[in-house]
Amino acid sequence: MRKPLIAANWKMYKTPAESVAFLHEFLPLVCNIDDIDIAIYPTMSSLASVIGAVQGTNVSAGAQTMHWLNEGPYTGQTSPTMLASINCDHVLLGHSERRIYAHETDDMVNWKLRAALAQGLIPMVCVGETHDKRESGLTEAVLRWQISCALNSVKPEEAEPIVIAYEPVWAIGTGSVAKPDQVSEAHRIIRREVAARLGEQCSEMVRIIYGGSVKPDNIAGIMEQPEIDGALVGGASLNPQTFAAIIQNA
Ligand code: PGA
Repeated sequence: MRKPLIAANWKMYKTPAESVAFLHEFLPLVCNIDDIDIAIYPTMSSLASVIGAVQGTNVSAGAQTMHWLNEGPYTGQTSPTMLASINCDHVLLGHSERRIYAHETDDMVNWKLRAALAQGLIPMVCVGETHDKRESGLTEAVLRWQISCALNSVKPEEAEPIVIAYEPVWAIGTGSVAKPDQVSEAHRIIRREVAARLGEQCSEMVRIIYGGSVKPDNIAGIMEQPEIDGALVGGASLNPQTFAAIIQNA
């Protein structure tokens, strides 16, 4: 059975001091939860502080992006080996804000995914259609394309750690959460594509979670759907009480 995962994407919020203050309040609220994996993706300058603060707890930490090479003349970048060297466990790849503002392409997401797996990081690959693509009836085509590109040359035997976050771009930070049946349908499309690429057995192990305006009052309806293995939470993860309520209500 796939263990649910609830993750926080803090985007470009929280200094190291603010991150540690959050954890001081948050960790006691979730310390008894052992049936859900919990991860936090802080901004790069707070990552080492978060990793230190969650050590020995049931919460893990991840980076919001990385380069696919291990070193080189790439100003501003952080490599997979550098993340591993500070005991970082997870990495978020291909978030729509990275695709839009940092011009991350499907090929780059694929290179990063393979580099993360080679380094032993747990990669979370974000996919999702824009409002226009959904209105044009292209949701399935977009999802299948993004998944097939991301998984190019990934071997079934190395795929188990992969997490896929279905994040419809129109639901991110907008307050308009996708309906549970829309999410279920998207997750079925994604799992079918994973099965086509990596085989049925492998597709049953990969966790597929939902992201986009998740809040304490809509998480239960989302988690009721058997296809949904968890959530990636942006805005509502910035407050310790609110993020803990999401995990408790899940
Ligand atoms: P949101 O962001 O929860 O604020 O919609 C989700 C995300 O971008 O991962």
